[in-house]
Amino acid sequence: MTASLPTLRLILGDQLNANHSWFTIVDDSVVYLLAELHEEASYAPHHIQKLQAFFLAMQQFSAKLRKAGHTVIHLTLDDTAECSSLAALIEQVMNEHQLVRFEYQCPDEYRLRSQLETLCKTHWWQGGSVSTEHFLLSEEEVLSYFAQDKQYRMEHFYRFMRKKFEVLMDNGKPVGGRWNFDQENRKRLPKKWTPPGALLYAHDVTEVNERLKRHGIAGWGEGSKPLTWPITVEESEQLARDFIARLLPQFGRYQDALTDRDWALYHARLSFSLNSKLLSPKWVIDQVVKAYVDAPDQQSLASIEGFVRQIMGWREYVRGIYLSRMPDYATSNGLDNKAPLPNFYWTGDTNMRCVAHAIQQTKEHAYAHHIQRLMVTGNLALLLGVHPDEVDRWYLGVYIDAIEWVEMPNTRGMSQYADGGFLASKPYVSSGKYIQRMSDYCQGCTYDVDQRHTDNACPFNSLYWSFLHQHRDQLESNQRMRMMYANLDRIPALELDNTLARANAIRQAPDEF
Ligand code: FAD
Ligand code: SF4
Repeated sequence: MTASLPTLRLILGDQLNANHSWFTIVDDSVVYLLAELHEEASYAPHHIQKLQAFFLAMQQFSAKLRKAGHTVIHLTLDDTAECSSLAALIEQVMNEHQLVRFEYQCPDEYRLRSQLETLCKTHWWQGGSVSTEHFLLSEEEVLSYFAQDKQYRMEHFYRFMRKKFEVLMDNGKPVGGRWNFDQENRKRLPKKWTPPGALLYAHDVTEVNERLKRHGIAGWGEGSKPLTWPITVEESEQLARDFIARLLPQFGRYQDALTDRDWALYHARLSFSLNSKLLSPKWVIDQVVKAYVDAPDQQSLASIEGFVRQIMGWREYVRGIYLSRMPDYATSNGLDNKAPLPNFYWTGDTNMRCVAHAIQQTKEHAYAHHIQRLMVTGNLALLLGVHPDEVDRWYLGVYIDAIEWVEMPNTRGMSQYADGGFLASKPYVSSGKYIQRMSDYCQGCTYDVDQRHTDNACPFNSLYWSFLHQHRDQLESNQRMRMMYANLDRIPALELDNTLARANAIRQAPDEF
């Protein structure tokens, strides 16, 4: 079938949605473009597995489109080596193939969105952008929800979503009589416990690695073994089904548990598949709810609700924050933090056992679960007063799922309180006591989690009390921090002085700890 005008349609690496309406018709006048670009592979310190996963997934996706009869140009780093930017590449392909229309799916990321808007404004081509058809809410709906200049708490947004999409609802009421089952969730792992083990793939990365090397892109982390992440729709769906059958019943209970006995625990590891759009959030939610409806005695409602909340609540919510607050959000620094990121974030070389494990596993798997990101590495960066730009850069690089629209609100907003409390109602800071309660790290650590100012005191403890002291003017009036300040005021003056002195020493030379 032939359409009117010769058209180029751009597919970015995180737009691998095979169910997009673009692909319902095979149109001879349309050329699809997927391209590996040096610029995209190096604008952040990406984990090598992230580069491998995106490049391999794009390769598979191109092959799939071709097999369905579409015309596809898939360019590797070798083909685009001379191209200085995405805009330059598009211009080149438009000219070479004498195309007159340019269409693209609107990027989630502000940087790419601006680039493509500028490109279209400065060229005579017809065309423009369409939706990625991926999220539960359209961009208009999400912007209309976040339109007013007020604070939007996740819990309200989540209830709005549950009602709108009628998920886990029973005659207008939440199934089970409650919106949130967190009280039954969030347990520490039992002492005698066998890790469930993650479903892993083994994709050959030899060619991709050679290509990256040829173009001087080193990547961060461990990348010499076969890639264990899913790179196709089929694998992503298989991973989701395996999660639902084997792991979901315990997901809620252990979602906040920390341990070095395993790296993925009961987490879904679906974020790469979702963020590359191989997997649709609606499909995942439907499967999860169906598992509960089909066999309620084999699933736990607390887990089902907890998991639905992550995708239908948090994921869509942070997108709303990003879309409605950019570009200012990217420079927010509400606590005026200035410190550099310690080098051990890159090497894992620290005596803090909890931190060393989170970073080592990140190097090895390009993955850490939410509480490792929030309450270990994120908590420490905030307590150390690291500049949010540096924290953002690290999180944008090191995880398999890191794409700015989801990474930034989680990092600046939730983890670093850089937006001044727009997303989180209080800073997510804790002493070592929280980590001790949720983990088995502390008993084997160089530091003593029961001390706050001695030479071997847990650095989280010294830094935590010092953080509260330092930001008293800004945070003391926050109702949710009253208890923390009451506890701070119970510390005897001399002990507090010693604690502040130790915190200063840690901030001066964090890499020595
Ligand atoms: P599970 O724990 O099994 O949860 C299931 C799914 O829910 C995830 O795949 C994800 O799609 C969604 N989800 C859960 N929590 C969140 C959240 N807070 N925001 C958005 N989606 C959520 N997530 C990313 O996808 N990309 C990022 O770059 C990213 N950066 C983060 C940075 C920080 C500092 C923090 C604290 C969190 C970040 N998250 C990010 C959120 C969360 O940690 C990951 O989505 C999750 O760990 C992915 O692993 P999983 O698929 O096993 O998730
Ligand atoms: Fe982490 Fe402190 Fe526990 Fe060591 S003692 S593992 S630094 S919380």
